[in-house]
This record gives sequence, structure tokens and C-alpha cells, in this order.
Amino acid sequence: LSRNPGEPEFHQAVREVFGSLDRVLERNPQYVQASILERICEPERQIIFRVPWVDDANRVRINRGFRVQFNSALGPYKGGLRFHPTVGLGTVKFLGFEQIFKNALTGMPIGGGKGGSDFDPKGKSEGEIMRFCQSFMTELSRHVGEYRDVPAGDIGVGGREIGYLFGQYKRMTNQYESGVLTGKGLTWGGSLVRTEATGYGAVYFTQHMLATRSRSFDGARALVSGSGNVAIYAIEKVVELGGVVVGASDSSGAIHDPDGIDLALLRDVKERRRERIAVYAEERGGRARFLPGASVWDIESDEPIHVALPCATQNELSEAQAAKLVANGLVAVAEGANMPATPGAVRVFREAGVLFGPGKAANAGGVATSALEMQQNASRDSWSFEHTEQRLAEIMEAIHERTAATAEEYGAPGDYVVGANIAGFTRVADAMLSLGVI
Ligand code: NDP
Repeated sequence: LSRNPGEPEFHQAVREVFGSLDRVLERNPQYVQASILERICEPERQIIFRVPWVDDANRVRINRGFRVQFNSALGPYKGGLRFHPTVGLGTVKFLGFEQIFKNALTGMPIGGGKGGSDFDPKGKSEGEIMRFCQSFMTELSRHVGEYRDVPAGDIGVGGREIGYLFGQYKRMTNQYESGVLTGKGLTWGGSLVRTEATGYGAVYFTQHMLATRSRSFDGARALVSGSGNVAIYAIEKVVELGGVVVGASDSSGAIHDPDGIDLALLRDVKERRRERIAVYAEERGGRARFLPGASVWDIESDEPIHVALPCATQNELSEAQAAKLVANGLVAVAEGANMPATPGAVRVFREAGVLFGPGKAANAGGVATSALEMQQNASRDSWSFEHTEQRLAEIMEAIHERTAATAEEYGAPGDYVVGANIAGFTRVADAMLSLGVI
């Protein structure tokens, strides 16, 4: 880790995975002999580039672009692009590292990578967003491709941005290579269910965890952090399964709506009007409240909260907030976001016997459906919503089974952290051994 100074999130992600691997290395000395641990935390390639663009005032602006191609033992690099002012090399490396094991857990032929920029889409005009995306892709285009590296969205990168990125790639390469990006629009190579997949998948995973304790979402009360792509569809699926979501958030604060969030209104405010979440509470009225600057985990609820779905960003749920949730009747947590619970929070949940689904397993539905989008592109086909959602549901069930069975095999029944880390790691490590010293 001393080789990578100034990358605390990357260190955190590596420690988290390696913390589960002692038992694996004891049983598999061949991994030690082949220096798999040393190799797996060194990216195969990392690219950092200048992104110049012109703003509406005709001024030239400069951002920094990143793509970390971490591991391609299982398939082409696959992982999203994040546009957020906090993005730096350490963030992209932490996300890329996590992605290796998550992608392995899906059972699909995809390697791990991640990218992004410190560009802040907030407050930018449509034209500025388009020009930024075009400039970003002008450089990125040299490094991606259906068989090489297939980016998708993440924080700050949704269907609009993927459209501009794909348009520029198409123009530069003079070919319609649909498989170069996922999260595309439905009329130009996208897959049904991709938009919903991460949120839906996290809820399916939670459903399977709850079933191990003979529980379900029916009548359960939940908190969901964020109000972006993952959060919105997590809320939708919780409600469909009979649960009530009483809180959500964005980076300006949280909303508490004890009667259950009105999803149509939330979507209108966040997805269509791209407003701050305070507007939801103003227009909803009744008992709904906006808590400026607060996290959803600070909400004081008189009634128990059974399920917590952190779906905003990394390290958003602290140890103290975890302890408060446990005291208020928490049964299950599934990480819709990547690494949202701090190490202290994860410890609190595990020690209290709360069902805890780590992001690698719980939010893998998004990338799995991206792989389904790649399958449809490769076969020039497009599947129905029902068929694709059925595939997603089967994949999430398989991830749950694989994770639970591996935890059991390694003497930690019910510990999804151990199960996900070991199941993901061994799949990649075995492929790396087969491919030789590369
Ligand atoms: P979006 O940009 O659509 O939404 C992110 C949400 O989180 C917004 O409500 C945003 O608020 C909030 N948020 C972001 N950063 C912060 C912060 N620093 N503090 C407080 N709130 C914050 O992103 P996604 O929904 O796509 O991604 C959310 C998480 O899920 C990320 O961790 C991502 O890596 C992970 N993920 C996403 C997948 C996908 O398919 N999209 C797949 C797997 C994981 P605001 O609007 O105010 O910025």
C-alpha cells in the first residue's frame, strides 16, 4: 500500500477484500506461489488524460479523465464512468478493484475496470455536458472497444451522457459498435431493465437474505439513501414487494416521509426536473419533512426501520449511524452503492447479527444486466422486459447462493462479506493461474 500514497479509499477496498482471504491462502498455496495477491491489486493499465472543453461563456475549461483497466482475466474490462468533483485516481482504483470481484461473482465473462472525471455536471447546460462528453470520448476512444473495455454509467453518468459518449465514439470510428458501451437508450442498442437493474437487484438480494430468517419485505419499513438511478429503482421494487420506504436523500439533505415516499413525485422532481430533494417535501406536504444537510441515516423514526439500503456513495454510513439503526430494529442492510458503509459500520452490523449484503454481491445486478446488454448487441437481438428481468432475478439468486455457500464452506455461515470476497477472488485467481505470468 505504500506504493500507492494518497489513495485511502483504494487502501480501504484492498484491506476489506484481503481481510477475508487468510483461509483461502492456507488451502491454496498455489496462489501465494504465483503472487496472485500482489498481481491482483496492481492495475493492468491506468490512463490519465486531459479533457479540454469550451463552456457557454466561450472559456476553455480543463478537467482530468481517468480509466483504470484493472483485470481482464475473465473478459474485457467492464465498469462504469463517474463524473463528480471528488473523483481522483484513488476513487477510480477503489471502484475498479471492487469491480473485479463483483463481475466475477455474476458468473459472466467480464473483467474489471472503472473510470471517470472530476467534471461536475451540476449546474452545467445541455451544451456544456455534450461538449464535455465529446472531448472525454475523443481520448477514451483509443482505449475502449467491444473486446477491450466496455464502460457504463455511474454517479453523474446516466442515459444522457452515455448517448453523447456513444455518439462521439460512433463518429470517430465510423462504425456502429453497439457493444462498446452499456446503459444505451432503448432505440439505439440499449437493454430493457438496465436502468432498473442495480436497484431491483439489490432488493432481490435483500429478499433472499430475509428469506434465510423466514422474513420478507411485506410490511417492512426501509430507508434508502440517495435519489439517483440506484435509489429510485430500489424504492420502486421495495414498494412493489409490499414494503414502505420512509426516507431518501441527495447531497443537499434528506427527506423523511413517514407515510411512505410518493415515488411518482420523487421521480418527477429528481429525474425529470433535476431539482434538489427539498422540492419533494414542499410539494408532498402532509408529514413529509426536508432535513437540510442531514443524511438519511440521521432520521429519527418513532417506528422501527427493518431494512437499510445505502444507494448514494462511499463511506456515507458511519459506525455511530449503524449503531443507531441496530438499536431501532434493523434486520438487513444491502449496499446498493459501492462501499457506502464505513469499516466501523460494517463491524457493528456483523457483530449485531444484522444480515449484511456487501456491494460486490448486492449491487451486481447492474453490471450483470450490462453483460446481458452486451449479449443482445452481439446477437443483434433485443429481449422483452419480462425475459430480461427474469434473467436478472435468476442471476441475483445465483449470486446469493454462491455467496452463502462459499461462506459456509469457509466456516463463516451467514457472513456474506466473507462469502462474496472469497467466491469472487477464487474465480479470478484461478483464471489468472491458467493464463500464466502475464
Ligand atoms: P446517481 O448519480 O444517479 O445518483 C447518486 C445519488 O447519490 C444522488 O442522489 C446524489 O445526490 C447522491 N450522492 C452522490 N454523491 C454524494 C455525496 N458525496 N454525498 C451525498 N449524496 C451523494 O448515481 P447512481 O445511482 O448510479 O450510483 C449510486 C451508487 O451506486 C454509487 O456508489 C455507484 O458506484 C453505485 N452503483 C451504481 C450502479 C449503476 O448501475 N448505476 C451499479 C453498481 C453500483 P446529488 O444528486 O445531490 O449529487
